[in-house]
Amino acid sequence: MLSGKPTPNITYNQQCDTYAWFSQRAWVEIDLGALSHNIQQIVQFLSPRTQLMAVVKADAYGHGAITVAQTALQSGASWLGVATVPEGIQLREAGINAPILILGATHTPEQIHAIAQWELQPTLCSPKQALIFSNVLETIQQDSPIPVHIKLDTGMSRLGTNWQQAAEFVQLVQRLPHLVIKSIYSHLATADSPDTTMMQEQHRRFEEAIAQIKAMGIKIPCLHLANSAATLTDSALHYDIVRVGLAVYGLYPATHLQNLIKLKPVLQLKARVTQVKTIAPGTGVSYSHQFIAHKQLRLAVVGIGYADGVPRSLSNNLQVLIRGQRVPQIGTITMDQLMLDVSAFPDLQEGEVVTLLGEQGNEQISADDWAEKLNTISWEILCGFKHRLPRVAVM
Ligand SMILES: *Cc1c(COP(=O)(O)O)cnc(C)c1O
Repeated sequence: MLSGKPTPNITYNQQCDTYAWFSQRAWVEIDLGALSHNIQQIVQFLSPRTQLMAVVKADAYGHGAITVAQTALQSGASWLGVATVPEGIQLREAGINAPILILGATHTPEQIHAIAQWELQPTLCSPKQALIFSNVLETIQQDSPIPVHIKLDTGMSRLGTNWQQAAEFVQLVQRLPHLVIKSIYSHLATADSPDTTMMQEQHRRFEEAIAQIKAMGIKIPCLHLANSAATLTDSALHYDIVRVGLAVYGLYPATHLQNLIKLKPVLQLKARVTQVKTIAPGTGVSYSHQFIAHKQLRLAVVGIGYADGVPRSLSNNLQVLIRGQRVPQIGTITMDQLMLDVSAFPDLQEGEVVTLLGEQGNEQISADDWAEKLNTISWEILCGFKHRLPRVAVM
């Protein structure tokens, strides 16, 4: 959730702003203008037949689900995707009426009651789950059937019924009371790879399943297959809805998919300098003295650490931006604080803003840069910022 007072859009040469000095030691800044821009870019990239589902699971990839969902819907998205029932309820409680697909599995009577009560739309992955849904809904005397989304496994080997059993599964769900099939969908395993062989095979399997379902005289209202990477790769994968997460947040799922549309990163990670001091040559810095000053240097303490989501494994291998320039982090990153070598700025003030992810002047540090250092993907970086950090919306 976005919280805290909105700050003005702080730029690197307006630091030490009189506004709320030190009121936040560290925060995640969410650029709603960039978010809106990304949604519009994606919508323009789609044919008019295809709707955009903004995937806002995991608190909108760490950006704050409610504000992201509201902005996405205002900017052209028409569906929302979440992973869990509580994520869906959170959006409904905020007054969001758009259709919400729960991408994860749900089974328990409590989950099914909540789905009916909050008008969320579940994913059905197996005949057993479909029977549980129908039975539980029977007991709550739901007037109208609930819309469900049939999930096929075409090669991801995650949720879903094997595509070869798709027709049987769809036929079963069709016959069950209290359920109405809203869509049939699948998920791609390798859409971010420049080698599209496996993706094309999954596409073929999906088409084959759909053909079999159609051959049984079953009318399918809606189909969807594409995540961000598939959306950017091939319009043949768009169908009726695309389920886009990463690109909404302004990052590209793969380097070869850049330049197709212009996306702007939505998230910036910022913190303040809390103390500045000079240390003598030979002085050790932070736990275990993993950094020793080889000369006299200016050291800045910054109020952010691994408990906020700055991975400790980036210690001594991280740069941040101050006044539009890259500055090295030194010593072990601690739970709530980290240190910088700020010798380049003898006049650096306590309270100045440090950008860990984002842009200052001509310099930029992206989640992709961190992901590369950490041997992971930008998705995991975005999801890694803890709730101790307020999400502050800026325009
Ligand atoms: C998370 C998710 C998406 C979005 O993936 P991105 O790569 O972030 O676009 C789409 N579909 C399903 C089923 C997902 O779980």
